[in-house]
Amino acid sequence: MADRDGKIWMDGQMVEWRDAKIHVLTHTLHYGCGAFEGVRAYQQPDGGAAIFRLQEHTERLFNSGKILRMKIPFTVDEVMQAQKDVVRANNLPSCYIRPLIWIGSEKLGVSPKGNKVHIMVAAWAWGAYLGEEGLKRGIRVKTSSYTRHHVNITMTQAKAVSNYTNSILANMEATEDGYDEALLLDPSGFVSEGAGENLFVIKGGKVYTPDLSAGALNGITRNTIFAICQDLGIPLIEKRITRDEVYICDEAFFTGTAAEVTPIRELDRVQIGQGSRGPITEKIQTAFFDIVNGRNPKYASWLAKV
Ligand code: PMP
Repeated sequence: MADRDGKIWMDGQMVEWRDAKIHVLTHTLHYGCGAFEGVRAYQQPDGGAAIFRLQEHTERLFNSGKILRMKIPFTVDEVMQAQKDVVRANNLPSCYIRPLIWIGSEKLGVSPKGNKVHIMVAAWAWGAYLGEEGLKRGIRVKTSSYTRHHVNITMTQAKAVSNYTNSILANMEATEDGYDEALLLDPSGFVSEGAGENLFVIKGGKVYTPDLSAGALNGITRNTIFAICQDLGIPLIEKRITRDEVYICDEAFFTGTAAEVTPIRELDRVQIGQGSRGPITEKIQTAFFDIVNGRNPKYASWLAKV
């Protein structure tokens, strides 16, 4: 991925993709204190690109920085503009955008005091994270043997790079066992989230999702689903959810910027509902793609034209 044409925004400058490098003594590379965002731009009916919920993603990046005590040396507006500039500079109508903040290489030792905070934004074309088939037919999920972080460990409302070792271990375990993705439980055994997704289950016409005390990220797609459910008149409840509640639900799906709205057809070899994308999931998924693709004027303000 490193050696290709294109532009990456690094600390205020647009640099050649293959020159966007950091030193091996970069603090974050050693100790894992950094944060990132995952954002998507979608091609709109007029042919141009628009970034979905750019403001919310950028504010979450700044909140991650606040939680990790990393002061980002740019304003929210500058980082929003940088994301638009990167999409334009790489000529991408639909793409995934990756802002990242990290601590520099001035010195090592756990304390980052005195080291600079850096920021970059890259963007590239990235299709369905869990596969086109997954979006239509649903995916197979395995409950992880790894526990999701307790809320007082690495801070679960920061999209911290260090939180992703846990995600990587869970995803590798699940995919090596032939599943598509992992579902992680919190330290009390309640359902938390996927390795890179929030979870929703549907039972008796109502939609449920774990409340954030289970250590799940406050997903922006999750929040979009709340708005969609309200529009569709579907009750939505945040609550503690047990693993077996997922086994016996009617429908389930994952959400995320990368994963979008991906139905789940199986957990731990237990078929969920009819074992395919359920009817309420399909309605929510359709409403989601209408919004991001600019077909629902109510949410035009969530699409920042680049
Ligand atoms: N949980 C985790 C662990 C994630 O990595 C993501 C993806 N950012 C999500 C949930 C979903 O968040 P969002 O909808 O904001 O992308």
